[in-house]
Amino acid sequence: MTTSTEVQNPLKHWVPETRTLLIGGKPVEPAGETWDVYNPATEAAIASVGGASLTQVDDAVAAARRAFPAWAGLSGAERSTYIHRLADVLEKAADRLLPSIVNEVGTPVSLAEYLQVKMAVDEHLRWAAEAAKLDRTVHLGEFDKPHPTMSDVVHQPVGVVAAITGYNYPLNLAIFKFGAALAAGCTVVLLPSPRTPLTTLFLGDLIREAGLPAGVMNVIIGGADVGQQLSSHRGVDRVSFTGSDGVGAKIMEQAAANLTGVTLELGGKSPSIVLPGVDVQKIAVEMHLRWARNGGQGCAALARLLVHDSVYEEFLEAGASAFDQMVVGDPWDRKTNIGPMIRPDHQARVRGFIDASVAEGGTKLLEVTKPIPDKGWYVNPVLLGNLPHSARAVQEEIFGPVAVIVPFKDTQEAIRLANDTAYGLAANVWCDDPTEARRVAEQVRAGTVWINGGGAMRPDAPFGGYGRSGVGRELGEWGMREYLEVKHIQWRI
Ligand code: NAD
Repeated sequence: MTTSTEVQNPLKHWVPETRTLLIGGKPVEPAGETWDVYNPATEAAIASVGGASLTQVDDAVAAARRAFPAWAGLSGAERSTYIHRLADVLEKAADRLLPSIVNEVGTPVSLAEYLQVKMAVDEHLRWAAEAAKLDRTVHLGEFDKPHPTMSDVVHQPVGVVAAITGYNYPLNLAIFKFGAALAAGCTVVLLPSPRTPLTTLFLGDLIREAGLPAGVMNVIIGGADVGQQLSSHRGVDRVSFTGSDGVGAKIMEQAAANLTGVTLELGGKSPSIVLPGVDVQKIAVEMHLRWARNGGQGCAALARLLVHDSVYEEFLEAGASAFDQMVVGDPWDRKTNIGPMIRPDHQARVRGFIDASVAEGGTKLLEVTKPIPDKGWYVNPVLLGNLPHSARAVQEEIFGPVAVIVPFKDTQEAIRLANDTAYGLAANVWCDDPTEARRVAEQVRAGTVWINGGGAMRPDAPFGGYGRSGVGRELGEWGMREYLEVKHIQWRI
C-alpha cells in the first residue's frame, strides 16, 4: 500500500547496471574481489560488483599517466568545455543518479535531490569547470640582487590523482575531488567505497558518454588492498581521500613511501554552541534536525551541543518538538528525514554508543520512541546527556543519529570545550551579538564555523579540518591548489 507522501517515481527501484571498471576510456571486466551491495532501507542485496585486481590498479594508474601530458597541455578553456559537457551529461542523468544514491546509501529522497545530486552537479562541478579557465600566474616583477631579474610564479598540474571516497555522499565527494583535479589539468583514478560503488560505476558510463579523452578519468572498485595499492603507487602524484580519520592515517603512511602529497577530508565531532541570551525556542528544532540529517552520517554533523546553563532546561523542552518531527523510515517517503545506517555492523556500533553511555551513567534526554520499520538498519534518534566531556560519546564520531548535550557556565568554558576533541571540522555559534559571535568563531579551531546556522555549502569556500579532521582543503580556490604545483621562473634582464 502506498501512502500519500510516498514518491511515485517510475525509476525508484532503479539501480545502475554497469559492472565494468573504466580504465583508459574502455569498460573493463573486473578481475578482483566481489562485493555485495545492499539497500540499507530494505536489507535486500541489490547488486554484486567485481573489484579491480592489483594489476588492474596498475593499469588504471598507467592509463591516467598516459593521458596526463595531453590533458595538462590543453588550455584551461578547453578543459572547461570538457568539464561542462560532463556536467551536462550528469544533469541529464539526474533522474537515475537520484535512485542510484537513495537505493545504495539510504538517504531520504527529500534530502538527496538537492544535497546528493543537484548541488554536486549544478554548483560544484560547474564551479570547477569555470575555475579551469583562470590564469593563476603571478608576475612578481623586478629583483635586483646580485643583478636585475624578473620573476613569474606559475601553477602546473601535479599529475595523476588517486581519489578515494567514503560511502555517505558518493557523487558529491567524487565531484569535490575530480572537479578540481580535472580543472587543474590532472588525470584521475577514482575509487569509491565498496559499500556504495554503484553510483560511481554508473558515473564511469557517463564519463564515456561525455567524451572525456581516454584515461583522463578512470574508475576502479575495491577495498583496503586496492586502496593501499593505489595510494602507495609510484605512478600517483597526489592522494585525495575522504573517509574516517583511522583510514586517513593509514593513507598518509601508505603515500609516505613515495613522499606523495595527501589531501585528507576526515571525520569530526562538531560543536554547536548556544551562548546566553539566545532565544532557544527559535533554534532548538533546527539544531536537532541538523545533526540527525542523513541519519547522522554527515562529516560535519553538529552533534555536540554546548548549551549555556541559563538556557539549558528551556532548550531541552524546546527540543521535544524536533524529536516529534523526526520521521525514521522509508527513504522514498517524502515525510522521512532519517534514513537507515549503511550496514548492520554500523547500526550495532551506533547503538553500542547509546548503550555504553547509559551504562556509564549518561541519560537519554530526548529520543524517538516509535518502532522502527521491520526491515532496514535504522536507529531511532537520541539526545544523550549527563556525560562528562571526556566520555567516548562526547569525544568520538558516532556517525549516526545520536547527539550529546553538555552545559557550560561561561563563554570561555564554551570555547575550551568546543576545542576539547581531537577533531576540528566544523562548528556553529548561536549568538545575538554579531561582534561576540565573530570573536567566538575566530577562537574555535575548526575549518568551517557557521554563525547562527550559516548557509549552504558554497563551491567557492574552502572545506576541511583542523587536527584529526584532515589535511588540506577541498573546494574553492583552496581546493584547486591541492592539485597544482607552484613553480618560480626567474630570468635576467
Ligand atoms: P572509511 O574510512 O571506512 O572508508 C573510506 C574509503 O577508504 C573506502 O573507499 C574504503 O574502501 C577505503 N579504504 C579503506 N582502507 C583503506 C586503505 N588501507 N587504503 C586506502 N583506502 C582504504 O570511511 P567511510 O565509513 O566510507 O566514510 C565515513 C567517514 O568519512 C566518516 O568518518 C566521515 O566523517 C568521513 N567523511 C568526511 C568528509 C569530509 O569532507 N571531511 C565527508 C564525508 C565523510
